Amino acid sequence: MTTAIVWFRQDLRLADNPALFYACQSARQVVLLYIHAPDELAPWTPGAASRWWLHQSILSLQRELHSLGVTLIVRAGTSSGVLHGLAGEIGAAEVHANALYEPAAQRRDKEVSRSLAGIGVDLRLHHGNLLFAPGSVLNKQGEPYRVFTPFWKNCQRALSVDSPLPRPEAIKGIGGLVTVTLDQLGLQPSVSWCRGMQESWRCGEAAARDELEVFCSHALMAYGTGRDVPGIRGTSRLSPHLHHGEISPRQIVWCLQRQFQKAGVAGQVDTYIRELGWREFAHHILHFFPDTSESAMDGRFNHFPWQHDEVLLIAWQKGLTGFPIIDAGMRELWQTGWMHNRVRMIVASFLIKNCLVHWRTGARWFWDTLVDADLASNSMGWQWVAGSGVDAAPYFRIFNPILQSKKFDADGAYIRRWIPELSALSNRYLHSPWLAGPSELAAANVKLGATYPMPVLDLGETRDRALSCYRALGDYRACNP
Ligand code: FAD
Repeated sequence: MTTAIVWFRQDLRLADNPALFYACQSARQVVLLYIHAPDELAPWTPGAASRWWLHQSILSLQRELHSLGVTLIVRAGTSSGVLHGLAGEIGAAEVHANALYEPAAQRRDKEVSRSLAGIGVDLRLHHGNLLFAPGSVLNKQGEPYRVFTPFWKNCQRALSVDSPLPRPEAIKGIGGLVTVTLDQLGLQPSVSWCRGMQESWRCGEAAARDELEVFCSHALMAYGTGRDVPGIRGTSRLSPHLHHGEISPRQIVWCLQRQFQKAGVAGQVDTYIRELGWREFAHHILHFFPDTSESAMDGRFNHFPWQHDEVLLIAWQKGLTGFPIIDAGMRELWQTGWMHNRVRMIVASFLIKNCLVHWRTGARWFWDTLVDADLASNSMGWQWVAGSGVDAAPYFRIFNPILQSKKFDADGAYIRRWIPELSALSNRYLHSPWLAGPSELAAANVKLGATYPMPVLDLGETRDRALSCYRALGDYRACNP
């Protein structure tokens, strides 16, 4: 029996954590470690909202471990350097971690593995953050899928998951090791911008478990339709918990498959698990096409006439475009670090198609402001909307924000929540306030251009301009969502 290090990364949980579980099985004593080395993930070092979450999540893990009488050691430096130092200090022969699949993390792990091997320490990577390891689902020719539906069909054949691993009942740690305080890592924002996030979220493993339970007992029943309505709590809101590994996809699928027993929810469970499938697909794509966070998969888009209009970009970022559904989404994002999926698609389409701003600029803003910022899902989401990514989904689509708003926020609950200055407008004008007459505006206390902006652009003109840019790309195929 040996001494082992468990290297926590994006797996900040005790249950169903293969690295922790197998380290506890194979070693006499284990040291639990978190290394702060954000630069190793460059150019996608965690954004501000993600760092805020990370701070809360590590804190929660520390408290949980404290109740088991173990300390989570936190150190800063290079991963290689910290692991070398600690392995030497405690005589560890093994380092256990759960595999990550982003290109920078994989490069880092290869390098760490090589350097640890040089001192006789074995880096053991387990599989725990996805249902299917990238590379394990290939088409008949042994090639990666580029289209979601056949990828997911193939995954479904093996979707009956094993029961999740239990959390270790006892962990035998080593006392007296040097650790830095969380505050020393500087993860928290220096400005008081995080209040909205504090009010919106509980971070950590217990919170993730609770969120799943609430979802199963409420929104799951109507997930198929509710998931598209931003004004209600129709989705699970598990994305930041999943990203930071506070809950594993296997735990979710296991829990949902047991819900199948309940009458009437089987279809909803399928629909929900299919969404988790998109997360799997995103990681699969990033693994096989590692440049997709930087450049378009469809090379023609490298010739797209992107424009950089700082005024439009700032209006979009601040939620001051004059289009209520866009502004509601961007304010939800700024205040809570999260945005509803339907609205993510609408705001992304607006920035790319109506403003002609490069999808990477939008992806960067999301990266910095989302608590669930995830390189695979974010890159795929933006490229999908731009029409430059994988999947035979419509080559491009231009969402009309007014029609989308009327369809998915028909009662205006979402807009009223995030744009209180419009809350007294009737539903008829709420989605396009500039169409309201002076008396309706006055009755609702709205002064366009003063209390709420006039639209920053003309939807029809910019749609036509986008269409001609797409046409110029060659393979033009229009689609009206
Ligand atoms: P639910 O509807 O409850 O879905 C359950 C889980 O399935 C989610 O937690 C998520 O892990 C996964 N999922 C659902 N939809 C998608 C999808 N389209 N792609 C990948 N996974 C999905 N998701 C991120 O986790 N991080 C991102 O950085 C991110 N950026 C996006 C950018 C754009 C432009 C778009 C259009 C989508 C992006 N998404 C991203 C996907 C999706 O919007 C979020 O996963 C979803 O809104 C999270 O809310 P939820 O947990 O309530 O989802």
